[in-house]
Amino acid sequence: MTPERYLHLDDHADLLEMPEHAAANQYLGLPLQSVVLNKIIDGRSPAEIGPLLHEIATEAPFLTTQTIFTNNLSYFIENMPRAKELQNKIMRMHMQTSCPILQITGFLADIFANRRLTGEIDALEALHLFIDAVLESRVQVFQNLAQLCPLCRSATDFKNLLKTFKQNPETDLDQLRFKSKMSFPRMMGLGIKILDGCRVQCQFCSEDTKANPDEWQMLTMDDFRALQPILEEVGQVAITGGEPMDHPELLEICRFLSELKVPFTLNTSGGEREQLEELLPMLHDGSIRSITVSINNQFGALGKRRSSQTAAFLVQQNVPFKAHFTAPRLAEMQDDIQPLVNDLRCLGLDFAGAENHKGTQVNNFAPAHSLGLREASVRLVMAPMYPGGRWSDNPDALENLRQITRQASQGGDSSGFCRLQRGAPPVIRADRTVSPCDNNMEGGCSGVTRLMDRLPRTIGQLLQAKSRYSRRMRGIYREANQKGVLPCVVHREKGK
Ligand code: SF4
Repeated sequence: MTPERYLHLDDHADLLEMPEHAAANQYLGLPLQSVVLNKIIDGRSPAEIGPLLHEIATEAPFLTTQTIFTNNLSYFIENMPRAKELQNKIMRMHMQTSCPILQITGFLADIFANRRLTGEIDALEALHLFIDAVLESRVQVFQNLAQLCPLCRSATDFKNLLKTFKQNPETDLDQLRFKSKMSFPRMMGLGIKILDGCRVQCQFCSEDTKANPDEWQMLTMDDFRALQPILEEVGQVAITGGEPMDHPELLEICRFLSELKVPFTLNTSGGEREQLEELLPMLHDGSIRSITVSINNQFGALGKRRSSQTAAFLVQQNVPFKAHFTAPRLAEMQDDIQPLVNDLRCLGLDFAGAENHKGTQVNNFAPAHSLGLREASVRLVMAPMYPGGRWSDNPDALENLRQITRQASQGGDSSGFCRLQRGAPPVIRADRTVSPCDNNMEGGCSGVTRLMDRLPRTIGQLLQAKSRYSRRMRGIYREANQKGVLPCVVHREKGK
């Protein structure tokens, strides 16, 4: 039965009411409920505000295309002449490369969010240097450069990279990285499950989390301090759980990562208002590179309240988020999603196009009055439910698994269903072991042998363990193909 609502927004009226600056939001293409313009409007006279908004909209409109720019508008207003200069260069770059403006500003936003870089060099200067390098090179294709800039770990790295690009703009990605001698992260990603407990207890959870806090295992701040040498060598960290918002030291952990300037992501089913307020500066300055909120009708009352208020809070604070929707039935996913689409419309958002990421469909939603002109406010990721945890015997979940296994066996190679094979990062777990993946399918990796049975001390230890494990997986993929099952099934059998 299709639920009537997923987000229970009526309970969060103060997050939904129109702020006094709704007209200004509309003018700059922000969600109507957004309060981020308060920072620049309050304290200025009406005679100043109109011309200022007009100046932004007409002479530096790139500031309205990416959320991180609008959330840091005060900085750009203080440096308006240089922001306008950048706008002119964006237009020239667009003419030279034929790259859509929204894509160019997306690359710029990724550089702006690189706090390792902007800790050493003024952010606008970094943006100018990047565009100058592309304009000087007179090439059309600059995507390799754009991919590497957010990974630079110092201003020296960044400048060497730009210099190498200008000398030989046709260089491929690996050569560019190699020739510029940039200090690349030794591991692109790392998952960290900070606890194995959760108060929400969604029925579909495949992690088998415990509800009673007395039984929770948790990583502590001391563990994080011990992990510092590893964290400094990692491109991005994914903080998950259990439910991270239930970890008593979540804020300290996030601040620690932010101070180290390690970009990180947060996966949650939603938090309490005070927690969200405390995390907000890190959501605005790029420390938290993305936040994913699970939205599902299988939540109990606590989950419904938390996910609904979190979604409304993030829209109000102009923080883009991924809404992760676990659909009960693969075959009926498009129908199941409709009530959630209606809920997003209640937040003033509308459908802004779909993308396909590694086989997963992502539907984008943006403020209805600025469709196609700015970064999406919500990216709706739809994933079918698979058996695992409390859903092990669920007929819908079993049918989803049957369908996906059939697809795998028809293709003759099921290894693509393995997250490890697809480059997903290893995961440090709350019990201080390391697992090879964070897979939820078929009971997840809870039953598989560990990459390490203790916390790693150096990045070298972790890399060695990962490469040993990857070799061992080849036999598992072979056997899965022979049996016509998913690799996770064989892997779990072997792990017992
Ligand atoms: S096969 Fe193993 S390593 Fe790969 S996703 Fe499944 S459980 Fe994880």
